[in-house]
Amino acid sequence: MFAKLLIANRGEIACRIIRTAKRLGIATVAVYSEADRDALHVDMADEAVPIGPAAAAQSYLDIAKIIAAAKGTGADAIHPGYGFLSENAAFARALEDAGIAFVGPNVTAIEAMGDKIESKKLAAKAKVSTVPGHLGVIKDAKEAIKIADEIGYPVMIKASAGGGGKGMRIAYSRKEVEEGFTTSKSEAKSSFGDDRMFIEKYIEEPRHIEIQVLGDKHGNVIHLGERECSIQRRNQKVVEEAPSPFLDAKTREAMGAEAVALAKAVGYDSAGTVEFIVDKDRNFYFLEMNTRLQVEHPVTELVTGLDLVEEMLKVAAGEKLSLKQKDVKLKGSAVEVRIYAEDPSRNFMPSTGRLVRYRPPRLGTSGGVTTRLDSGVEEGGEISIYYDPMIAKLVTHAPKRLAAIEHMGSALDAFAIDGFRHNIAFLAVLMRNERWKEGRLSTKFIAEEFPEGFKTPQPEGRVRDVLVGVAASIDHLSNERRRAITQQMHGEPVRFAETRIVELGAERVRVTVEGGRDAPMIVTIGGEGTGEPKRRINLASSWWFGEPIWEGTIDSAPVAVQVRPILNGVMLTYQGVEIAARVFTERETELATLMPVKELPDTSKFLLCPMPGLVVSLAVSVGQEVAAGDPLCVVEAMKMENVLKAERDAKVAKILAKPGDSLNVDAVILEFA
Ligand code: ADP
Repeated sequence: MFAKLLIANRGEIACRIIRTAKRLGIATVAVYSEADRDALHVDMADEAVPIGPAAAAQSYLDIAKIIAAAKGTGADAIHPGYGFLSENAAFARALEDAGIAFVGPNVTAIEAMGDKIESKKLAAKAKVSTVPGHLGVIKDAKEAIKIADEIGYPVMIKASAGGGGKGMRIAYSRKEVEEGFTTSKSEAKSSFGDDRMFIEKYIEEPRHIEIQVLGDKHGNVIHLGERECSIQRRNQKVVEEAPSPFLDAKTREAMGAEAVALAKAVGYDSAGTVEFIVDKDRNFYFLEMNTRLQVEHPVTELVTGLDLVEEMLKVAAGEKLSLKQKDVKLKGSAVEVRIYAEDPSRNFMPSTGRLVRYRPPRLGTSGGVTTRLDSGVEEGGEISIYYDPMIAKLVTHAPKRLAAIEHMGSALDAFAIDGFRHNIAFLAVLMRNERWKEGRLSTKFIAEEFPEGFKTPQPEGRVRDVLVGVAASIDHLSNERRRAITQQMHGEPVRFAETRIVELGAERVRVTVEGGRDAPMIVTIGGEGTGEPKRRINLASSWWFGEPIWEGTIDSAPVAVQVRPILNGVMLTYQGVEIAARVFTERETELATLMPVKELPDTSKFLLCPMPGLVVSLAVSVGQEVAAGDPLCVVEAMKMENVLKAERDAKVAKILAKPGDSLNVDAVILEFA
């Protein structure tokens, strides 16, 4: 086994690899860019080497600097994680030349699989079923249209060097082929430095199901079952699970066998993933093979009980696989959600900022349910524009799928992150979505279930009662505390039922509250004159001021509600509902209705920058008339090119940004007449 491992990566995956190395008694070396000086992976490693500026091209992607860091520290192996240099054949070859072990597959396998066009040709030769399409390089938009016409719409335009959902567009018409070809080609050029494009048939109602394979240097290859990753936005995974709720034993076996056949065909000798797209009749087609550790590998680890990083290290060191196919047993169900710094209510645009608060839920195993967090950040850390906006992965495992999902919902409720926009509320809503719970998925799931985009849901039914109850109980505690401070009531607990008006968003709910800090509280909602049936809810919690999560039981069921103080009240978050709650006496409410309401400024005349990013180009000029849907401007953020389009017919009055400008969120790009 290796003595010292350098991790050529950052964020959660660097931390995750360091954890296994430590457990195995291997010394660790982190590398870091200027932007990551204070990052968690740097703290965790035994040694850390600076490798240059924030821009990945000059640090994490700089092969020479990374090899120099390994030589300088005497590391005998490098784990590349995912992304960055993980699938870079030149890197693997350079390590070979330098006599440092690469914790990944051999160079030939990386080369054969690293290119979508070449790998599909190879897969077809190994009798693996592939998506119908044109397996050649397409030179321009005109040829793209011709080929798309031949294949039949819809089609998928893809960069041969693509990855991470970048350089890829669906097109339903010639116009979309033209536009998609141009944007994905330029995205491919800037992201991969390689803009060879091809086109294949778009499989409708597709599910993304992939097989984890594991090979050694002695010709053994096994598979570790599948992961389903159909819940995606912008062709990028958000939720993954193992096993897939869609596969039957027969399909699983057939997919596993094809994945192993393909891996054997390229002499695969590490952990890798064969991705398939599966149609509604369970026909499956090879998409690509990722020759590295996959982001979503934890769900496989939880159902197999294996540590994939450990397996990778062992086979890289020349050991034989200790498992045979028949030894692989899949137990229970695991679900992973990716926590992103992005705004689900603005089409999942990336967000940046400082982690003002970062309080994960309780982790570990209890009652047969496991909660795992793979994270690379700490409170006080920064989410910058330089790297991927994924900050952590939350994973749950239980004997049954629904229990793992339910547990994920509760864990998300208790996960407090502040400082930028993130997708926890979205994920919390998703975990309660009936179609998801039933496992009726496709890669269009998010688009279909949230056709208007994600909006914070309005509280209804039980969720509303919980929020009203928690708001009332917090107000009650606050009154109790105030009395204790001023000594007016000598700290005596309140013994009578107080009537209060809970303002939940725009709604007013009359309640009475009994009990106090040291006794369960009873909140009575509704009743005579309120238009809703009377009900009493029992709250028990040891919550006190300053704690970000109200945790306790409501009518004996465990509940976690996030609490953030705001002017005259609290902001509450529960099951994805985020709402301001203020509690008043009846007299205060009477007076409050007399207060003037502040009008929000009208921003409809402006095109605002939806995320922090770089202006790539402007498609319009002053005085130009545009129609709804016309492209106005291209903004690049986190390596994605986003075309901002006109929402209605209008005339451009002023242009305030120019190509090359670096804009903040909500910066004005142009003004309409
Ligand atoms: P990347 O390497 O960028 O991740 P993939 O080829 O793996 O790209 O595709 C990513 C996702 O895009 C898939 O999970 C699937 O949802 C969708 N996709 C890709 N190709 C097709 C296709 N031919 N038909 C339908 N969906 C596709």
